[in-house]
Amino acid sequence: MSLARQEMLKIQNLINGQMLDPVDGKYLDNFEPATGQLYALTPDSNERDLQLAIDAADHAFPDWKNISSENRAQVLHRLADLIEHNQDDLARAEAIDNGKPITLAKNVDIYRAAANIRFFANACTQFSSEAHAMEEVAINYTLRDPLGVVACISPWNLPLYLFTWKIAPALATGNTVLAKPSEITPMTAYLFSQLCIEAGLPAGVLNVLHGSGQSIGAPLTTHPKIKAVSFTGGSNTGTTIKQATAIHHKKLSLELGGKNPTLVFADCDFDRTVKEVARSAFANQGQICLCGSRIYIEQSIFDRFTEALIEQVEQLNVGDPLNADTQLGALVSESHMNKVLSYIELAQAEGGKILTGGNQMHMDGRCSGGYFIKPTIIAGLANNCRTNQEEIFGPVCTVQAFNDDVQALMMANDSEYGLAASIWSQDISRCHLMAKQLNTGIVWINCWLLRDLRTPFGGIKASGSGREGGLEALRFFTEPKNVCIQFNS
Ligand code: NAD
Repeated sequence: MSLARQEMLKIQNLINGQMLDPVDGKYLDNFEPATGQLYALTPDSNERDLQLAIDAADHAFPDWKNISSENRAQVLHRLADLIEHNQDDLARAEAIDNGKPITLAKNVDIYRAAANIRFFANACTQFSSEAHAMEEVAINYTLRDPLGVVACISPWNLPLYLFTWKIAPALATGNTVLAKPSEITPMTAYLFSQLCIEAGLPAGVLNVLHGSGQSIGAPLTTHPKIKAVSFTGGSNTGTTIKQATAIHHKKLSLELGGKNPTLVFADCDFDRTVKEVARSAFANQGQICLCGSRIYIEQSIFDRFTEALIEQVEQLNVGDPLNADTQLGALVSESHMNKVLSYIELAQAEGGKILTGGNQMHMDGRCSGGYFIKPTIIAGLANNCRTNQEEIFGPVCTVQAFNDDVQALMMANDSEYGLAASIWSQDISRCHLMAKQLNTGIVWINCWLLRDLRTPFGGIKASGSGREGGLEALRFFTEPKNVCIQFNS
């Protein structure tokens, strides 16, 4: 049974250094995906909450901007310490809120949340700008100042990981921030807000507003005080935000959807590739924007590789996210599960053959009402069908055969998305040539999701514009100003 509504945990906003209820007292329901039970209430904030947060951030900006980067870094390191100190509680909260396995939550999501903050705390103390000498005539130097009050909007698939990936560089460079986590997975951003107070982050420097895209996300992106919007989420939402912010000339970074190709060549390291390709397709129930959902396999090994992949995937332990040995948990919501199931039906209508999976899984006990789907592999589809072109964002991938490098490249690039790709081959020259010609922002060769936080991160086409990570993020959250000085003649 669900808790009675009045006894249920009510998540709060962080505004001006205080945990606050939404001004109008409106809440959204928050479900545990593994059980289907309502377990918390999330503020459905609106423009009244927004104005309080804007005022707080605007007021906090001059002091935060003017303290030294070392002092900003100190506060951020304290925050990272607190995340590490509370990693077990945060991992459990993420697993309950999102449905992801607790081991993944701890080793990937919460680990990365602390690492993101540490990385940018260090990076801001090392950030420098350029100088351009014009021989005997003049010298130019570039000043970089923070933008002011900025908005960071994040999705539900890697809740605290992506939330911190945005706010850390924004704060480190001296901006004050209004951040909106996904209304579907608000819990760790709420717990993180409490840690910000404990870490001594000055009031108003970070404000966290919960609520739906319509009630708080949209007004946040168009508020005149917001100088830049850093958004990660679906491509359609990205288009809406691009249109809404265009007339205000706001700086915009968009990290959007993906439909990523995985290219498996006959000369790959077979056993390792099978394992890694399975991981790249199904990690986090296939709900990572970087997951490889279109698997292209060289014809000569197509049958053998597909069989081995099926065997590998059928061994994945799908179950209660709170069990330490669970490898795949629940999908994030009932509506998302139904969307993914509808794509499996569509694939069959398009002539696809289900090689494994293809259905909802019904668990016993605690998780009997949860949103589980058996990991699914589909064959026999044309490259241009909807199943192979649209982002499904679940534990579903397709396999297709190719005859040579040219065909592999053509099939991989035949997509409106361009986020990431992976290549699996021992022929390093081929790998370099393919990497150069793939129309994506990220290419992994004989690995997947190996991340160095200094590298540019992002996609092209419908996968977004702008880059996060390293210097790219520090540059996004600062405005360059060129100063030119002519020498005395
Ligand atoms: P979504 O676009 O529905 O929501 C993302 C965020 O935007 C949420 O916080 C939501 O409340 C908010 N939002 C919704 N409408 C808004 C509006 N009009 N104005 C402002 N904010 C609004 O995406 P989602 O379903 O939460 O996340 C899944 C998507 O995110 C997938 O497409 C996935 O590929 C993508 N994603 C991309 C990356 C990347 O780095 N490229 C990373 C993770 C997820």
